[in-house]
Amino acid sequence: MNEIIDGKKFSQALRYKVKNYVQVIKEKKGVTPGLAVILVGEDPASQVYVRNKGKQTLEAGMNSYEHKLDASTPSEVLLGLIKNLNRDPNVHGILCQLPLPNHLNEKEVINAINPEKDVDGFHISNVGLLNTGQKSMIPCTPLGCLLLLKDRLGDLSGKKAVIVGRSNIVGKPMANLLLQENCTVTITHSRTENIENTCAQADIIVAAIGKPEMIKKEWVKKGATVIDVGINRVTKKIESNEKTVLVGDVCFSDMVGLVAGVTPVPGGVGPMTIACLLANTVTACYRSQDLSDPEFT
Ligand code: NDP
Repeated sequence: MNEIIDGKKFSQALRYKVKNYVQVIKEKKGVTPGLAVILVGEDPASQVYVRNKGKQTLEAGMNSYEHKLDASTPSEVLLGLIKNLNRDPNVHGILCQLPLPNHLNEKEVINAINPEKDVDGFHISNVGLLNTGQKSMIPCTPLGCLLLLKDRLGDLSGKKAVIVGRSNIVGKPMANLLLQENCTVTITHSRTENIENTCAQADIIVAAIGKPEMIKKEWVKKGATVIDVGINRVTKKIESNEKTVLVGDVCFSDMVGLVAGVTPVPGGVGPMTIACLLANTVTACYRSQDLSDPEFT
């Protein structure tokens, strides 16, 4: 099926590019990019993400530093660790795995990270820079979506893009990135009226909702390109057995034969997120050495 946008394959190629850039900076400057990941508590999903991030960081030839803190870690201790990592010349990227335990203030923690090392792109300075079209750290998931879209469609100029979802980590930065690509962007959310009709006008739909298979064929124009960010765990009956499977926010089977391109779940946006984290870490390292940004598009 040539409408499938294979994020797994694309992310492998991206990680290969990252590895090459790592090699170049090691040879040119004797510097190895380093990513520090902080995990507070024992959330099982977060533990899996952190493990994968560490593994892929090492595979790309970078240094990986994991800091696992107890769930009851006081704010001052976490902020103290971030302060040390901000100063550490071997650390070019810092990521604090979210969500944090309730007693910690997420905004305060994220804004304590040096914006130049904020490889998640969540620091308020990076949000402001992105919103005003300046050089910033771009949040990994929207960056991954953009790379997939540009790879599939080339120039995005003039396209009508509809984003479903307005979160700070996906919907809003995605809208800003597509605006910078000269798309005409509409952001929709849970209070949007006639959302189905709005989506049906779009050349590009990016779904970041967290509602299993909400986007059906009636929502999508023939020939549109659909990026499905959603990751939902649902129980499905497969050959008379109940199984837990992952589905996106888009009804994938409805898209077959209708769209020009669609990302599957799993295997679409998901693998791009970690690859973009590695790319951001290399970018941060290049910037720290006054080198021009690596090119990942
Ligand atoms: P949030 O819960 O922060 O935001 C969801 C957005 O969807 C909100 O803006 C909400 O609107 C909107 N929404 C909810 N219900 C409806 C509805 N019925 N109609 C229209 N809009 C609706 O989620 P995230 O942005 O963090 O994540 C979205 C999905 O993407 C999740 O499934 C998450 O797991 C996945 N995800 C995947 C990543 C990856 O690497 N592939 C990374 C990050 C997220 P309102 O603001 O009005 O409440």
